Order: sequence, then C-alpha cells, then structure tokens
Amino acid sequence: SRGFYIGRFQPYHNGHQSVLERIACSADEIVIGVGSAQVSHTVENPFTAGERVLMLTRSLADLDCPFYVIPIEDVQRNALWVAHVRSMTPPFDTVYSSNPLVMQLFAEAGMEVQSPDMYERLTHSGTVIRERMLDGEPWEHLVPPAVVDVIREIHGVERLQRIAGSD
Ligand code: ATP
Ligand code: MG
Repeated sequence: SRGFYIGRFQPYHNGHQSVLERIACSADEIVIGVGSAQVSHTVENPFTAGERVLMLTRSLADLDCPFYVIPIEDVQRNALWVAHVRSMTPPFDTVYSSNPLVMQLFAEAGMEVQSPDMYERLTHSGTVIRERMLDGEPWEHLVPPAVVDVIREIHGVERLQRIAGSD
C-alpha cells in the first residue's frame, strides 16, 4: 500500500517527522506532497519548494520505507484539488492528515483517511517556529538537524527577518 501526506512544511519540523516515522511502519511507500509549492519569500511561506524538498529528503534519509517528495502548486478550486494532487503523484490508497479541509476533500473522493495523533502541537507548529526565527529566539530544537543545516545554508532566518521588515 502507498500512503499520502501533505503539508506546506514552512519549515519541516519534528511534528511532521514524528508523523512520517509512524506512517512509515504502516505503509510500503509514502508519497509526500509539498503544498503551496509556488509560494516563497513571504512571512507565512518563506522557503521555496526546492528548499523544502531538501529539508524533507535529508531529514528522512534513514527512513526504513521508500518515499517520494513532490511539490504541488495550489489550485483556486477546492472541488478540483484532489484530482490535481492525484495528477502529480504516484497512486496512493491511504491519506494521513489531520487538516479538516484535506480530510474532507479526500473523504468526498472516496479515499481512506486516517488522522495520526499530533506531536506536541503547541510548540511544534510552523507558525510558532517562524515567530521564533523572527524574534531571534531558539528554534533549532524544534526541527530535525538536517533542517537546521538547510536553513543555515540558505540564510533562511535572515531572509525571513528582511521580508518581515517594513519599507
Ligand atoms: P503552519 O503553522 O505554518 O500552518 P504547521 O505546523 O501546521 O505549519 P503544515 O505544513 O501546515 O505545518 O502541516 C502539515 C501537516 O502536518 C498538517 O496536516 C498538520 O496538521 C500536521 N502537523 C503540524 N504540526 C504537527 C505536529 N506537531 N504533530 C503532528 N502533525 C502536525
Ligand atoms: Mg498548518
């Protein structure tokens, strides 16, 4: 069986990693969608799809399950979104998500949807991590070590702080 998991991963963090490590035990292969792939360099979405692919691929290098990381651009019609996703991904049978809209759209398409338990959601959230980066507070402990490396390499914190500034 092939599982599907999607997020924006701005950035990829230990909550995502925890879910993927759990899913890896119940599926033969995992398809990971990098959502809102066309968006970058904004305060909500600082990193490019390619940078997010790097974060995921490096963090999951030791996963004992084959995986595919696939950027997926937004479409402006939720009613067409599942078909759009499926047109870009290897076929999958189970969707793992706790996002209500994602769950609803896949359920309406007749797909099996499972909701993995959240991992320390209060601290492990992209929004919280971006706020910490902006405020110059520690964030490195909330993401896999490979993500720290990628964000350093691309000067990601400086980028976020600059684009959040006023002109
Ligand atoms: P943001 O605050 O930017 O929305 P996020 O932490 O919610 O970031 P997303 O990329 O939006 O991350 O989420 C991708 C998927 O990961 C969603 O289905 C979300 O519910 C799930 N997720 C987010 N945080 C956790 C967590 N701590 N534990 C388990 N799953 C999580
Ligand atoms: Mg979210």
